[in-house]
This record gives sequence, C-alpha cells and structure tokens, in this order.
Amino acid sequence: MWSVAGHNRTVRIFQRSLREGRLGHAYLLVGRAHVGKMTLALDVARALNCTGEAAPCGQCSACRRIVLNRHPDVMIVGLDTEKASKEGKTRKEISIDGVKAILRAASLPPFEGRYKVFIINDAECLSGEAANCLLKTLEEPPARVLFLLLTARESGLLPTIVSRCIRLELQPLPLSTVEAFLRERDVNAEKARTVARLSKGCPGWALNIAGDEGAWQQRSELLTTLARVLDSGLEERFAFAAELGGRFEKDRAAVNELLEMWLDWWRDLLLVRAGSASDIVNFDQEEVLRRWAGAYSLQEIAGFIRHLIVAREQLRWNANARLALEVLMLNLPNGNREETKEDVRLPSYRA
Ligand SMILES: [Zn+2]
Repeated sequence: MWSVAGHNRTVRIFQRSLREGRLGHAYLLVGRAHVGKMTLALDVARALNCTGEAAPCGQCSACRRIVLNRHPDVMIVGLDTEKASKEGKTRKEISIDGVKAILRAASLPPFEGRYKVFIINDAECLSGEAANCLLKTLEEPPARVLFLLLTARESGLLPTIVSRCIRLELQPLPLSTVEAFLRERDVNAEKARTVARLSKGCPGWALNIAGDEGAWQQRSELLTTLARVLDSGLEERFAFAAELGGRFEKDRAAVNELLEMWLDWWRDLLLVRAGSASDIVNFDQEEVLRRWAGAYSLQEIAGFIRHLIVAREQLRWNANARLALEVLMLNLPNGNREETKEDVRLPSYRA
C-alpha cells in the first residue's frame, strides 16, 4: 500500500512505470515543505525493493527498514542528514562529500534489494561542486539505480540537473483530503478541521501539529510573540531581531517557519482589512486580526508583507540574518496602536 496522502495522479505515474518496467533513472519531485515528497519517495523505494506480495506491502522487512532509513540499498542525503547537523551546527549546503558517498554506492550493484535508490532531500542546497559531480552520473546512469531529487525551491537547482530528471510537481492537497487524512489517524473532528485549514494542503505539517500538543502550543506562543512585537518600541524590536538572528544560526528551519507564519498572519490581516475575512488561514485568530486590522492602513499592511518576503529571501540566500531581521523590524509599521490598546493588553516582549 502506498502511504502518501493524496497525489493520486503522481502515484499512478509511478505505478504504471513500475508495472511496465519503464522507470526513469532520475525524478525531480517539486512541492512545498511537508506536502508529501519524502513519503512518496520512500513509497517508490519500497515499491522497488519490497519482498512481499503486493509491493509496497509495508509489512516485509525491506519495507519496514526503508522507512526507518536502515535498508542498505536506500540512501537519503539532505541538509539534516549531514554530520554537522548532529554537532548542532546548521548546514547551508549539501557538500561534495555527501554526493561522492552516494556516487560510490551507486557504482556497486544492489546489496540485497532489486534497486539502489538515492533520495536527495533539499536538492536546491547541493553545492555547485556537488551538483556538477552528480550531473555526470545523471548523464550516464548505472543500471538498477534510481535518483529521487526533492525540492521546495526548484529555482535553486542547476537547469542542467533539472533537464536530466523527470519532473513531477506535487500540488498542495485539497483541505478535505488533509482533514480525512487526520481523521484516519484519530485526530478529533474539530481539531482536524482547524489544522487542515491551517496546513495549506500539507498533510505532513498538519500531522505534526495535530499529533503534538507541544507544537500546537508553540504555534500559539509564536502568535502571541508576534502581537507583543507589534505592541513594542524600537528597542524591544531590535532585541527581538537579535534573538531571532541568534536562533537562526542554530536552527534555520525554526526561524524560516516563524517568518512563514508571520507572512500568513499579515496576509490574513490584509484580507480582514479588505473585508474578506472568510478567506483567512488563521481563522482561529479572527478576533485578534480584526483588532489589529483597525490599526493599520492597507498600504502599511501590503508594504510590510513585501518587507517580509524580502527578509525571507535574504535568509534563504545566507545574508547576514541579524541585519536582515533588524531591517525588517525597522520597517514594521507602527500603525495607530490606540485602536488596539483597549483589547490587547500584552506584556512587553521578553526573549
Ligand atoms: Zn514490503
């Protein structure tokens, strides 16, 4: 059984190629974070190496070890899997060493399965050297080897790499599919509905949040922090930028996620300000959004959204994080805070 939620068309493409023995040697799976790229890649690896009756059976030793990343013929590389991340440092790129290791393994026949499968997560983070090294193998692929490149940001890949792969795009899932996916995993109806809407069609994200009280709590803390920062003076805003900059050095993903959340919140603010509250993502925050919408003009909100997008891009391209965040804080509009004072009594920000 294929375990990926939704993406039926893409699953059918793989199933047909497997059935007809016409599998390509390299695929590029494009889609936003947590949309299901890794689950699908692991499904393909299991379908190729399953020893059960209806591949991928999910029950046999091969299927189970693949999911646990313990199968000798299935190798995953990415930013998280590099050694440095275990030492508490954040990697900015997938180095040539990681790619050389997979190319060495690719030159040998499968150890126990039928196919060697190499999953390259965050493929946009391949260093130039690593990408060029991989390119040579993609041009002359060994037999019984499959490369699955996963990316949320295709523009960061070398066009020559993209042109060597069969490109499949994973679109966000319909909200009803995410909701059903959560219900099948024993998430209660109300939470499933709320989380599905917040997930923007990404079941992996939804399951993380729904299944983890801590993560749910963290989301509301981040939203509270956001409101505190709005209500604070420049000094506190700079302290916040410094704290975020420091966190970025240790955990880029957390800061990127925070900026995404801010972006959603400000887009929602724009919608509420423009009178389209029914379309907001953070619909459990509607009351708070309504209060803040009164404090800003449409121009101020739209302007800050542009600054947020610039900051997000700068962090992606490894700019000085603290500086980029300080500039962002400088551009945070002050609005007419009297509008909100009555209802939002927030303590000043503390890191
Ligand atoms: Zn199996």
